[in-house]
Amino acid sequence: MSNSLIEGRTAAGPFTQLESVTDPNRLAPHLDDAAHVPGGHAEALIEPRSEREVSEAVRAAKRVLAIGAQSSLTGGATPRGGTLVSTARLRAIADLADGRLRVGAGVTLAEIDAHLARRGALYPPLPTWYGATIGGAIATNAAGAATFKYGTTRAWIDELTVVLASGDVVDLRRGETTASEQGTFELQLGKQTLTIPVPRYRMPGVPKVSAGYFAAPRMDAIDLFIGAEGTLGIVTEATLRALTTRPATCLAFMTLTDRSAALEFVARLRTEAMQTWRSPGGRGLDVSAIEHMDARSLAIHPASTTHSQLTPEEQLQTGVTDGYIRLSLGIEHEDDIVADLRQALDKA
Ligand SMILES: Cc1cc2nc3c(=O)[nH]c(=O)nc-3n(C[C@H](O)[C@H](O)[C@H](O)COP(=O)(O)OP(=O)(O)OC[C@H]3O[C@@H](n4cnc5c(N)ncnc54)[C@H](O)[C@@H]3O)c2cc1C
Repeated sequence: MSNSLIEGRTAAGPFTQLESVTDPNRLAPHLDDAAHVPGGHAEALIEPRSEREVSEAVRAAKRVLAIGAQSSLTGGATPRGGTLVSTARLRAIADLADGRLRVGAGVTLAEIDAHLARRGALYPPLPTWYGATIGGAIATNAAGAATFKYGTTRAWIDELTVVLASGDVVDLRRGETTASEQGTFELQLGKQTLTIPVPRYRMPGVPKVSAGYFAAPRMDAIDLFIGAEGTLGIVTEATLRALTTRPATCLAFMTLTDRSAALEFVARLRTEAMQTWRSPGGRGLDVSAIEHMDARSLAIHPASTTHSQLTPEEQLQTGVTDGYIRLSLGIEHEDDIVADLRQALDKA
C-alpha cells in the first residue's frame, strides 16, 4: 500500500579516503558545460566510487554541484564555487530478471543503448546527445526526438537511490510513496521526521516541461526528484524500464513550401500516428519523432553547405533555405514500410 512516508537510511558501500582535486589544471575541464556560460569556478572536484563516498563528499563540503557529462545547455552544470561531485565513477550496470536495468548515475546513455541493443531492447527517451549520463538525464528529465511517442525520461524511471544534502540516502520506488491529501511527504531521518510540502502550482499541459519541480495532487515521491536538477539530492543509481523489442526505424525528410502547410501536415501526421498506436496490431504510419530543421541548423553542421552557397534550385531540393520548412520524421516500421508509408502520406 502506498503512503506518504519516505524513509532515509545510512549510506552503504565501500569507502576509501576521498581524493579532493584542487589542481587548477584538473579542475579546468569542469568549469563550464555545453551552454558555455562564462565565469564558472570551483574549489574542488571529488569523484566518488560508491553511494557511501557520495554521502561523505556531501557531508564534507559546504556547497556541492553534481555533475555528469556536463552537456547541459542551460548552464545548470556550470559551477559557481563549491565542490563538484562527479558521477563519472558510478558505473555499475546490471540486468534485472524482469527485463529492467539497474544503472549507476555515471553510465552514459550511449552505454545503456549499446547494452540493451545486445538483447534487442531499447530505452526510448534518449535525448539527442548520447554522451549524457543517466544521472544527468534524470536530473533534467531529458527528452529527445521521440518524446512524441514515448514521453520524457520520467515515464521510464521506476526506482531511484538518492543521497540527500544531509548525507542520508533514500530509495524511491514508483507506486510506493505518494503525497498525502494535504499535499505533503514525511521524510524520516533517524529520529527526526520532516514535513515536505509538494509544490501547489499547476503544470502546463504539454509533454515536455523542464522548468521547476514536478507537481500534481497525490504525486509520486520519485517524481519530485526527477527533473529537480540535483537540488534535492544526488542520484547514485536508477532502475529503468525498457522496450523488450527494439523497433526498426527509418528517417524521412520532407520539404514544405510554407509554414501553415507544414503545421497542417504535422497535425495530420500526429493524428495518423496516434490512430496507429490505438489500432489492433498497430498497423499504419507509426511516427515517433517529428522535428523541424531550419536553415541555420543545417548550415552549422560541418558536412553541410550554407544555403547562401546553394543555387535556388538546390535550395528547393534540399530545403536548406530560409524560405522552406524542412521536417525530419522518425518512423518505426515493419518490412513493408514503403507501402504503409505511401498509403499514409497520401492520406495525410
Ligand atoms: C548536442 C546536444 C544535444 C542535446 N539534446 C538534448 C535533447 O534532445 N533533449 C534534452 O532534454 N537535452 C538535450 N541536451 C542537453 C543535455 O544533454 C541533457 O540535459 C542531459 O540530460 C544532461 O546530462 P549530463 O550527464 O550531461 O548532465 P550535466 O550537464 O552534467 O548536469 C545537468 C544537471 O543535472 C544535475 N545532475 C547531473 N548528474 C546528477 C545526478 N547524478 N544527480 C543529481 N543531479 C545531477 C546537474 O547538477 C545539472 O543541474 C543536449 C545537449 C547537447 C550538447
